[in-house]
Amino acid sequence: MYRIDLHCDTVGKLAGRVNRYCLKGNLMENPFGVDVERLEKTGGGIQCFSTFFLTGHVPSAFREDYAYQKAKKLISWYHRDRNFTQGRLQPIRTAEDLEYCFKHRVSGGLLTLEDAVPTAGDPERLREFYDLGIRLITLTWNYENALGYPNSQNASVMMRGLKPAGREMVEEMNRLGIIIDVSHLSDGGFWDVARISKKPFIASHSNARAVTEHPRNLTDRMIRTIAESGGVIGINFCPRFLNEKGKVSRIRDMVRHIHHIYQTGGEDVLAIGTDLDGITGKLEINSCEKLERLEDALKKRHMSGRILEKMWSRNAKRVLKEIL
Ligand SMILES: [Zn+2]
Repeated sequence: MYRIDLHCDTVGKLAGRVNRYCLKGNLMENPFGVDVERLEKTGGGIQCFSTFFLTGHVPSAFREDYAYQKAKKLISWYHRDRNFTQGRLQPIRTAEDLEYCFKHRVSGGLLTLEDAVPTAGDPERLREFYDLGIRLITLTWNYENALGYPNSQNASVMMRGLKPAGREMVEEMNRLGIIIDVSHLSDGGFWDVARISKKPFIASHSNARAVTEHPRNLTDRMIRTIAESGGVIGINFCPRFLNEKGKVSRIRDMVRHIHHIYQTGGEDVLAIGTDLDGITGKLEINSCEKLERLEDALKKRHMSGRILEKMWSRNAKRVLKEIL
C-alpha cells in the first residue's frame, strides 16, 4: 500500500548515531524504523522526515542560534544522503513532485522542521528554511519558543496563545506554502492557529484526548476544527499517547484512536504520523514495513477499503496538494 507518513525522526537518529558511533546506515538502508528499501518492499510512499534536536540543555539565550546551526547541518546531511538514493527517494517540494511520485509509485521525502525554534520567529529565516526544502513546520516542541507555548499539564501554560511573532509566522507560512502543524502546541496556540490560518492545518502526530487523556492529544472540538479547516490528523504510535499505562504501543489502541477520530471528525481527517524513531517502549509496529498489520486490524473492524485508502494517503495528499 502506498502511504504518506506525516512524521518520523529517522534523520536525527541517522545523522546523530551514525557519526557518533560509526554505525552503518543511511536513508537507503539502516537498522532503525524507516528506509527506502523497506518502504519499497511494502508499496512505497511519501515519508515526512523531521529535523529535530533537543535544545533543553542549552541556556535559553543561546537556544535559537544553537538550533539554527544544528538545523542547517541536519538539513544538508539529509540532502547529501538523499542524493545517494539515486532517485528512489524523490524530493517533495511542489505539488508536481507529489503527483510524480504518486503516478509512478516512487517514494518521496518531505522535509519538516519539528519546533520552529531555529527560525527565531523571524520571517526572513522562515524563507531561508523554505529555500532549503522545509515544507512543514511543527510550531513548537515541548518548550516555549519565539512563536508560542507547548502542550503542558500546567493549565496556565496550556491556555497561552501564540505570541505576536507566532501569529505573523502563521500568516507567512500560509503565504509561502508551508504546512502548519499544531502537534505539541498549547491549546491556546491551537485556537489561535485555527482563527488565523487561511489554509488547512494539521496535527502531524497526535491522538484523541477523549481516548487517552494526555495534553499531546486532541480534544473532540479540536478534531472537528481541524476537519473543518480541511486538514488531517496523523495517528501517533507513541505508547503514552495511545493508552494510560504508556508502556506498550499496541495496534488495538491505534484502532481505538482511529475509530474515535473517524467518528468525531469524519473520514476526511484521518492520516498517519507514526513518529517512528522518535518514540520508545515496546512497539508492535516498530518499522515502516509492518504498517500492513494496522491495515489488517482495521479491516477486521470493518473499515472499508475506500476509507483506508483515505487514511493511508488520499487525505494527506489532498492537504499537501492544496498547500505546496
Ligand atoms: Zn514530536
